[in-house]
Amino acid sequence: MTNETKSIPVAIVGGGPVGLMLALFLDHYGVKSVLFNGEPEVRWHPKGSTHNSRTMEHHRRLGLAQTIRDFSLPPDRPMNVSYYTRLTGWELGCVRMPSEAEKRRTVAQSAATDQIPEPILRANQMYVEAFLLAEARRRPNITVRFGWRADKLDDDADGVTVEAAPTGDGAREIWRAHYLIGCDGGRSFVRRFLSLRYNGFAKLDSPYYGGRMNATYLKAPTLFRDHLAHRAGWQYWTVNPEVRATIITLKSDDEFLVFSKGADDGTPPTDAAMVHMMQRAVGTELPISIIGHWPWTAGVALVAERFIAGRIVLAGDAAHLFTPTGGFGMNTGVDDASNLAWKLAALVQGWGGANLLQTYETERRPIGERNTVAARDLNKNLANMPITAEMEQDTAAGAAARAQVSAHLATFGEEFASIGVQLGARYDGSPIIAEDGAPPRDDFMHYTPSGVPGGRAPHYWPGAGRGYGDSLFDQFGRGFTLLRLGRKPADTSSIEATARQRGVPLKVIDLPQGDARELYGRDLALIRPDQYVAWRGDVPPPDPNAMLARLIGA
Ligand SMILES: Cc1cc2nc3c(=O)[nH]c(=O)nc-3n(C[C@H](O)[C@H](O)[C@H](O)COP(=O)(O)OP(=O)(O)OC[C@H]3O[C@@H](n4cnc5c(N)ncnc54)[C@H](O)[C@@H]3O)c2cc1C
Repeated sequence: MTNETKSIPVAIVGGGPVGLMLALFLDHYGVKSVLFNGEPEVRWHPKGSTHNSRTMEHHRRLGLAQTIRDFSLPPDRPMNVSYYTRLTGWELGCVRMPSEAEKRRTVAQSAATDQIPEPILRANQMYVEAFLLAEARRRPNITVRFGWRADKLDDDADGVTVEAAPTGDGAREIWRAHYLIGCDGGRSFVRRFLSLRYNGFAKLDSPYYGGRMNATYLKAPTLFRDHLAHRAGWQYWTVNPEVRATIITLKSDDEFLVFSKGADDGTPPTDAAMVHMMQRAVGTELPISIIGHWPWTAGVALVAERFIAGRIVLAGDAAHLFTPTGGFGMNTGVDDASNLAWKLAALVQGWGGANLLQTYETERRPIGERNTVAARDLNKNLANMPITAEMEQDTAAGAAARAQVSAHLATFGEEFASIGVQLGARYDGSPIIAEDGAPPRDDFMHYTPSGVPGGRAPHYWPGAGRGYGDSLFDQFGRGFTLLRLGRKPADTSSIEATARQRGVPLKVIDLPQGDARELYGRDLALIRPDQYVAWRGDVPPPDPNAMLARLIGA
């Protein structure tokens, strides 16, 4: 039975991390949404574990970061990635990375101008998504329709109609929304409705992390105790001529996520084959029970040809598909949601201009391309591993072969860091950015803070505290923020009056510290709701109305 049509400003199809974050961002701005997800609960299978610094800043903005940090490994466990022939064989290398406790100590001791208030977090999506869903369910602005699959769309100049069928109890529903966002993953129903293709690389022939891969969720109660506890870390790779596997630790010490090469024809592995593979990777027999498999394809770098058609928008995997190297897929999708949410809010609340929505595509499509390419480049490192039959021999030739692999592995590191990718995404050339200088060079390995409009607002700690509430980002408004920097800020009443007239939410913050002024390079900086610098100057522009009109896409 179909109920009468319900109305809502925003309908979201897909309750993965991107759809959930979009709904939570919209709630943050006071905008109602309905969130459809085919399955009644979040995914039961572990997937990505990297929540990068920018994603964590987004979680911080929503007041969720502190809790999410607790979904990581035990606080004192280093996040090392180490490489072995087999776990009972030779160590080949180790990328050392700090524990959560060390990261928190580093933040506590950081300089006022330090740029990383939220260090990268390793916590599986599975736990974070469950928490985000619980949060969404608590918010009256979000109508959660988990267990409803969207199966019919219709759009016109005024809105979008979506129909959803219950996968369990409940009635079929029809909703009418001003905007509909497809966050429905790589096989996106919404993208197919729009007849949009992905462009880019769909295939990478590689002995590992290219083509078909298996992700296996398993229980191995003695693995940590007998083989890992003395070299505690986050990921363990086994590299030998017989089997390559990546063993990823989860929150509890008896459960693991394991990646291994899949069959070319896509045949799913049997449980017995996976147990056998794991025993060869460890180098000995041990008790293992398989919880489930999640086949995936590595090596892809795909971006949808368009992100918007009328009132329908794509975000997350529906808009771009990554190879997991670098851990950019979900993170790029969450950043899409951050860019999109304030624009939707501005339009729904009536202060956004007619061209604002289109800037989502102008700004985010190039970032999809930039980040998918970065991930694919990092992936190439894995393909060239010099694996030979000798590497497991206890001979001089064996030692030489292992030294060769170790030398290759010593070049690894950015696969697990890439701070420039995380924080350095810029929207230069966007029509709603008032550019005024040369932006820093895009460098995947380094992030250079810059007040040049178009980039993430440089971070600053205004006082002695380094906790939640102490960051400049914690003080930004939910709408635009006008920073008045330096000791003698200009009179900004003309900008404030214009914002009031246009109904643009604006908060003014005085930041007299000299080093903060240096970071921004001007006495005034206007920050967008998504924490990007939109405009800066030493005095208000002669026509603040024209300036603001531009920044809101009017
Ligand atoms: C092995 C692996 C490791 C990874 N590691 C990382 C990592 O470390 N860091 C990182 O950033 N990314 C990582 N990724 C990528 C990351 O998992 C994805 O980019 C992310 O899940 C995409 O989120 P999403 O919300 O866009 O889509 P999805 O997570 O795919 O969610 C889409 C949701 O939409 C629902 N849906 C689909 N169609 C409909 C419909 N018609 N109606 C209603 N609901 C529908 C689906 O059921 C699903 O719940 C990894 C991916 C893999 C495979």
